[in-house]
Amino acid sequence: MKVDLKGKTLKELTDLFSGMGKEPYRARQVFRWLYEKLATSFDEMTDLSRSFRQELAERFRISWLDPSETRVSGDGTVKFLFTLEDGEGIESVIIPDGERRTVCVSTQAGCRMGCRFCATAGAGFVRNLTSAEIIGQVCYAEKFLRERGERVTNVVFMGMGEPLDNVDEVMKSIEILTSELGFGLGGKRVTVSTCGLVPEMKKIFHETRAQIAVSLNATTDRVRERLMPVNRKYPIAEIVDFLRSFDPGPGRKFTVEYVLIDGVNDSVEDAHRLGRLLKRCRVKVNLIPYNENEFSPFRSPPEGREEVFREILHRYGIQAIKRQRRGGDIEAACGQLRGKIRKKLARQYGEK
Ligand code: SF4
Repeated sequence: MKVDLKGKTLKELTDLFSGMGKEPYRARQVFRWLYEKLATSFDEMTDLSRSFRQELAERFRISWLDPSETRVSGDGTVKFLFTLEDGEGIESVIIPDGERRTVCVSTQAGCRMGCRFCATAGAGFVRNLTSAEIIGQVCYAEKFLRERGERVTNVVFMGMGEPLDNVDEVMKSIEILTSELGFGLGGKRVTVSTCGLVPEMKKIFHETRAQIAVSLNATTDRVRERLMPVNRKYPIAEIVDFLRSFDPGPGRKFTVEYVLIDGVNDSVEDAHRLGRLLKRCRVKVNLIPYNENEFSPFRSPPEGREEVFREILHRYGIQAIKRQRRGGDIEAACGQLRGKIRKKLARQYGEK
């Protein structure tokens, strides 16, 4: 199969074209066509000579993802289910918030981290996505929004999969998103959300301009291990050590995600323990009420629990924000749509 140019960084394009005897500005031209102008064919690249376009078409292709299903929620959240070339399904969500249009992208088909509260984990791990498949989700969202006179303003790696378990493709995607010639999103507008793979968090911190959000979800190793098996490898102390050791610097911040689950991690003692753990870290805490679903034994916390947490954390000098549940009517939480589709397929075709 021809080499796909989608997902290639400017440096990769420059290297590819220099092997063809082309000057570096050719790579810049093609890069802009791919990511700024969302070209789907070489014919569209009208500032390239006809012969160069022909040469490109003979050797390369440009993949494009179109959703097999689109759902629009009452609150404006839009969810896309994409079927990849090998038949795997992934999903992305556009979350509108004031002027912001945040796209939440998947980085793996399935996930191997096994978080107990997550619908994606139940489907198991299938494979890593390529940078073409990751950027393809943003390209489609951008096209969808442009048709409505809007643009993608933020990207979060928070869909299916653990982004840092696919760190090389994710880093390439960040480079394309933050490049002036690509999507031109500042580092502030790109966030990688991880379950806490500490060495890769350091890599993202040092080698990209993206923001880092880490899912803590518990204040003792015993509870976190129960919820997130990754805690055996990277316990709470290692994550807190990372958050304490590095100064995110101006224009950057660390976020701690804390999903509140009824009777599991949402007690007043938990709130105080969280305050003590994070009081010397430069973090913002996102408090997220658990989104109940039919695959999970866990329940959403009672109304107002986030407020109790928020007040206690403020006493420790920690900024905490209640994150709204969005897209609840279209199952916009991680992996839920795909889980549903799998279940439907299983019923229809006996798939496991
Ligand atoms: S919460 Fe994220 S890291 Fe954990 S299993 Fe689900 S997709 Fe993977």
